[in-house]
Amino acid sequence: MIAYLEHFLHGTDNESRPHDDFTGLSHLQLHGTIDCSPTSIATRDFGGMQSVKPLAFIRPAAVDDVARVLKAAAASSNLTVAARGNGHSINGQAMADQGLVLDMRSTEEYFRVVWMNGSPYVDVSGGALWEDVLKRCVAKGLAPRSWTDYLGLTVGGTLSNAGVSGQAFRYGPQTSNVTELEIVTGKAETLVCSETQNSDLFFGALGGLGQFGIITRARVVLQQAPDRVRWIRVVYSEFQDFTRDAESLVTRPEGDSFDYVEGFVFVNSDDPANGWPTVPLSPDQCFHPIYIPHAAGPVLYCLELALHYRNSDHPSDVDADVDRLLRRLRFVEGLKFQVDVGYVEFLLRVKRVEEEAKANGIWDAPHPWLNLFVSKSNILDFDRVVFKRILKNGVGGPILVYPLLRSKWDGRTSVVLPESEIFYIVALLRFNPEAPKGPAPESLVAQNQEIIQSCCIRGFDFKLYLPHYKSQEDWKRHFGNQWTTFLDRKKSYDPFFILAPGHKIFSRNPQP
Ligand SMILES: Cc1cc2nc3c(=O)[nH]c(=O)nc-3n(C[C@H](O)[C@H](O)[C@H](O)COP(=O)(O)OP(=O)(O)OC[C@H]3O[C@@H](n4cnc5c(N)ncnc54)[C@H](O)[C@@H]3O)c2cc1C
Repeated sequence: MIAYLEHFLHGTDNESRPHDDFTGLSHLQLHGTIDCSPTSIATRDFGGMQSVKPLAFIRPAAVDDVARVLKAAAASSNLTVAARGNGHSINGQAMADQGLVLDMRSTEEYFRVVWMNGSPYVDVSGGALWEDVLKRCVAKGLAPRSWTDYLGLTVGGTLSNAGVSGQAFRYGPQTSNVTELEIVTGKAETLVCSETQNSDLFFGALGGLGQFGIITRARVVLQQAPDRVRWIRVVYSEFQDFTRDAESLVTRPEGDSFDYVEGFVFVNSDDPANGWPTVPLSPDQCFHPIYIPHAAGPVLYCLELALHYRNSDHPSDVDADVDRLLRRLRFVEGLKFQVDVGYVEFLLRVKRVEEEAKANGIWDAPHPWLNLFVSKSNILDFDRVVFKRILKNGVGGPILVYPLLRSKWDGRTSVVLPESEIFYIVALLRFNPEAPKGPAPESLVAQNQEIIQSCCIRGFDFKLYLPHYKSQEDWKRHFGNQWTTFLDRKKSYDPFFILAPGHKIFSRNPQP
């Protein structure tokens, strides 16, 4: 098999090979399937800006298949392997040019609720979609505590980054809400790891960008699922008022705050994709610009909140709780929107956006997104320079901005954060029609670079989230004093630098 793959890898006539003639791969004796067609989904990702040719797209049936593929790669001189979750990366992070891509979604479904010391957890496969985890947990009256906004992402994919949404201020990111992982390392060893067992691998893999091993199972912390959600949006004209209220909500004790706190910037105009119409929560609500103060600038801010409740709660009690919490906030009077929805509907809210975007073609267009973590100490300057100037016309989609607490993130993981306790996630979720109808992606990538440069020039304390760099020097700068640990872990768990080549942190080493 190895000889066959290497022959193929080194061959010059890859294009001319009949793509169904790959019997050589059958020596792997996988239970899953192998797709060598040049048009498999492994050639692209959600970013839509890169396209590479993998040697094969492998659909492992189970953890044994994953281990077999990694063993074969380790025994070769130059094969790389990328785990692909749902391919929702932006910059080719789940790709392997001339390497093997593992479709983690094809691994057998694993779902088992376990109770330990009276608390519920769920064991799920690394390739499970969070959306499916939600549905199966809710059927048992349970739910994970920490989410992403969009649930068409895999467990292994978000745990390899962080997994952030409006619950992270309370429970930390998804990486703070798993207690055990099963991982196949770059040495093809299948290890169970946790805070107390193989802990270095456990913490390394969380936020580890897939560099140390492939997550085949995760144990996720659960809570009792609420039934319903009061979903609220309130508008601010001053960024300082917005940040003060947002920070106060994320630092108050549970019971004295909302269960979900997010925010976004929008353009102070009637632009349908960037402006006032993006704020109301239902078609029967209307944004009345008459309430906007005359002194308001080119952009406005929206705090997005949610309070969980149970079917058995009396509506007047829910109203009273919401009123008590909202009373302390200084949003623009008249610009408050709210709806009551089921908990699952709330968590699946971005699925509706996906359906609309698919219908009008912008889901499959390029997405030059940028995600940053910016320290509280620089967020007012960031607003002045980036939101009010560079992005004053919007990005064609949501510009998220909301505070998170460093103390809710475990410093032993591979995730890198700004220094301060309070920092903001800033996410430019660009949704534009494909050029020439929309802007050329290169111009938007250039705008992203301008923003990053502006932060660097001003010495802001910031980090890229879902990072993407082209050189190891840039990666070293990104990891800062965490680089040595990251490198040591790489040498321990993936000594031949086989895994996750799409990040361009390491190049495949020849086998000694
Ligand atoms: C519409 C949309 C909304 C999003 N919303 C949020 C959000 O609210 N919050 C947030 O934090 N992020 C969000 N993201 C980003 C998302 O977390 C990342 O794209 C992440 O990579 C998960 O996507 P995926 O499962 O498709 O993984 P992929 O893109 O397929 O993979 C991402 C990385 O993880 C590695 N990987 C994948 N599976 C495994 C595994 N089992 N074991 C080890 N490594 C693995 C890959 O090799 C790659 O390096 C969003 C992305 C999109 C497109």
